[in-house]
Amino acid sequence: MLRPGPLGFGLRRRVYTERMAVEAPTTPLDAARIKLDFPILMREVNGMLPAYLDSAASSQKPRQVIDAIVDVYETSYAAVHRAVYTLGERATERYEAARDTVTAFLNAASRREVIFVRNATEGLNLVAYAYGLKFLGPGDVIVSTEMEHHSNLVPWQEVARRTGAELRYVRLTDRGELDTESLEELAGADVKLVAATHVSNSLGTVNDVAAIARWAHDHGAVMVCDGAQAAPHRVVDVQALGCDFYAISGHKMCGPGMGALYGRADLLEAMDPFLTGGGQIAKVTLEGTTWNELPYKFEPGVPPLAEAVGFAAAADYVTRIGLEAIHEHEQVLTAYGWELLSAIPGVNLFGPPPPDRAGILSFTVDGVHAHDVAQILDAEGVCVRAGHHCTQPAMRHFDVVATSRASVYLYNTTDDLDRLAAGVDRVKRTFGV
Ligand code: PLP
Repeated sequence: MLRPGPLGFGLRRRVYTERMAVEAPTTPLDAARIKLDFPILMREVNGMLPAYLDSAASSQKPRQVIDAIVDVYETSYAAVHRAVYTLGERATERYEAARDTVTAFLNAASRREVIFVRNATEGLNLVAYAYGLKFLGPGDVIVSTEMEHHSNLVPWQEVARRTGAELRYVRLTDRGELDTESLEELAGADVKLVAATHVSNSLGTVNDVAAIARWAHDHGAVMVCDGAQAAPHRVVDVQALGCDFYAISGHKMCGPGMGALYGRADLLEAMDPFLTGGGQIAKVTLEGTTWNELPYKFEPGVPPLAEAVGFAAAADYVTRIGLEAIHEHEQVLTAYGWELLSAIPGVNLFGPPPPDRAGILSFTVDGVHAHDVAQILDAEGVCVRAGHHCTQPAMRHFDVVATSRASVYLYNTTDDLDRLAAGVDRVKRTFGV
């Protein structure tokens, strides 16, 4: 059975002919129509429309976000929080309105709890440096996990090294899930902080953040959650999750390079700033400085207005389409992609099987390096990431140095996954494996 591409780009249909066994499901979103919002996905690359399957690294941007950014520069740009003239006030209003949007997006209790940062990495480092260095010391235990992105692992190694705290890890099972027994083994230790991801970017595992946060609190610890792979794809309610810190990344959710850190107000109040300079101070004398109120205490320098407005436009965009629908759409696509890839001999998939996993298909092809897989897929117009995905400990657990990773988002169709599977067939033919 031939299935037409979303826009009927006929040349590409040729590659589907070998994949006739698996019926393409229908998904809750009209992704072919959603694709039209994304100018880059409508532009040929090497003579083909891209099957963009690398949103876990960074997502594409819809016209609505691009227009919001252009509009800021054309109508409202000036230095935020600094100017008394009308344009400056407009700039400040738009920046703070963006914060209100992100506050609502995360269901934080207060806008004081939402700090704009450069990306999820900076948000996690902010907690490490401003909380970890101040409140942790020798004898304290930090718990992280074997599946963390380096952004939620290396900062804790640094905190441990500088404070004398001990860093211990929750291990992985062979399904790529957290080994709850290894968490319980840590129960007797003097745990002061637990750092865990919501969704693994290399395995697609979805962690029960609410349960981990409860465990942390029961043991007198705070919980830091890396939400970079969750917030773009599912409803995130930081109050319901009960975590103390939650970092997200705008560029993975249809926005520009910008992130946000949610932090519990009483903890943020107790912390000292991570970076210091203009704007985050109350008073500076030659003898010393007092800090501005939340959230400004953590936002030194002239704020990135266009990025914040674009970030809010992205939050509005995915909210309007509906995060439940996006999640459901990705669940269907993931199950389909899993089925297609697992039917190919010599393809090994990592992480727990569907359902209840994120839209990240990490795989190896026996006898072929992950980078070669990605390169041949590129020749077919299929964009996937290859490498360790900044999760070297997780790769080591599975005894691989790299995987190829296809990740889906709201604009992906079953057609994109057909092209992925056909491309993997081509990889096998090319290498004779
Ligand atoms: N955490 C996870 C799970 C990620 O996948 C990534 C990026 O791939 C990050 C953190 C870092 O995100 P950012 O680029 O926003 O710093």
